[in-house]
Amino acid sequence: MEFTKEHQLIRDLAAKFADTELTDEVLEQAEETGCLDMDVVRKMGEAGFFGIKTPVEYGGAGGDHVAYVAVMEEICKRSGVAGVFVSSPNSLCGTPIQLSGTEEQKKKYLTGIATGEMTFCFGLTEPGAGSDAGGTKTTAVLDGDEYIINGRKTFITGAPLSDYCIVYAKTDMTQVGSRGISAIIVDLKSEGVSFGKPEDKMGIIGCPTSDIVFENVRVPKENLLGKEGKGFSNAMAALDTGRIGIAAQSIGIAGAALEEAISFAKDRKQFGQPIAKFQGIQFMLADMATKLEAMRLLVYEAAARKDKGEDVTKLASMAKYFCAEGANEICAKAVQIHGGYGYIKEYKVERLYRDARILTIYEGTSQIQQIVIASQILK
Ligand SMILES: Cc1cc2nc3c(=O)[nH]c(=O)nc-3n(C[C@H](O)[C@H](O)[C@H](O)COP(=O)(O)OP(=O)(O)OC[C@H]3O[C@@H](n4cnc5c(N)ncnc54)[C@H](O)[C@@H]3O)c2cc1C
Repeated sequence: MEFTKEHQLIRDLAAKFADTELTDEVLEQAEETGCLDMDVVRKMGEAGFFGIKTPVEYGGAGGDHVAYVAVMEEICKRSGVAGVFVSSPNSLCGTPIQLSGTEEQKKKYLTGIATGEMTFCFGLTEPGAGSDAGGTKTTAVLDGDEYIINGRKTFITGAPLSDYCIVYAKTDMTQVGSRGISAIIVDLKSEGVSFGKPEDKMGIIGCPTSDIVFENVRVPKENLLGKEGKGFSNAMAALDTGRIGIAAQSIGIAGAALEEAISFAKDRKQFGQPIAKFQGIQFMLADMATKLEAMRLLVYEAAARKDKGEDVTKLASMAKYFCAEGANEICAKAVQIHGGYGYIKEYKVERLYRDARILTIYEGTSQIQQIVIASQILK
């Protein structure tokens, strides 16, 4: 992949930021407290990482998806959870507004998101509606100039830290499945909003995930995002970008695991020589490097084609599927190469392995990506 000068500049900026700000101390503290240092998060916003693709007129950097992937790759090489803080505003929180927002909504929210002054979360999943997100039970009933929202959203990234949530709720109860769902911006300080306790997660510890409960929450009608009843297509279109972001997170995490494995294999001696001299280890490293190269090609291709305005539903799902599964394979092999040390928290691969596990699950599981890919090629 040939990068333009601008792409290289933003990649270098992200790599430098990761080196200087995402120190071992900061990352250990995030694991201990369950929240990444908010001062570091603020600095990410100041560096422009929250509005990479947001148009300049709305306070963003006006960059493209390739730039977004480059930033995600560099940040996630240091920390998968810092990558979550970058991906949320750029994809699932900013994109629905960029796609369907009125001019007023774009001015009001996108600038705040891009600078980090306003924080959003994306509320699609429910306890009974995960992969089948069209099974949404949350309702929004129009009462005069307000919607009254009732329901529960689950596993919402960053919920306890957010000012607003884009809530996908049923507005037309006569419609079945994904029809009749609308996207509504809800101020999380509204009366009737409460949060579940932050989940005790396996990985990406440092960005709290929790349920959000809506009990007779009154929201002004003008907070409807896009047309009433068209929320599900807004969510699916936002996920095209989201999936490219998770694929980018995957290549960052996998790249770090490969680097750690190479360095450990050169250092660790058994049977009187570095384990890197053993063909069994060399073959694992060769497989990891080859897989990573293919993953990178696929995600940058998906991003570049999106930037050309192509429909990338199939390619984004392919990238998410291939890169997420690949990152899990690479991280597992990196732990294997570390032997017992890979199982110990002091070694970076232990965290990378745990962080990689979410990649095949959120923003559509690998099985859902396979369904999307199959439906596209069987059209
Ligand atoms: C840490 C974390 C953060 C998250 N952040 C957010 C967020 O910010 N916003 C949000 O809305 N959601 C979020 N989610 C939810 C996430 O997107 C869902 O967990 C995911 O879509 C899967 O849904 P589920 O957990 O209900 O699993 P289920 O849908 O119950 O799936 C269980 C298993 O069945 C498989 N399966 C389901 N349907 C099919 C099928 N038709 N064919 C074959 N296999 C199938 C799945 O692949 C999976 O293996 C987050 C989840 C986690 C864990």
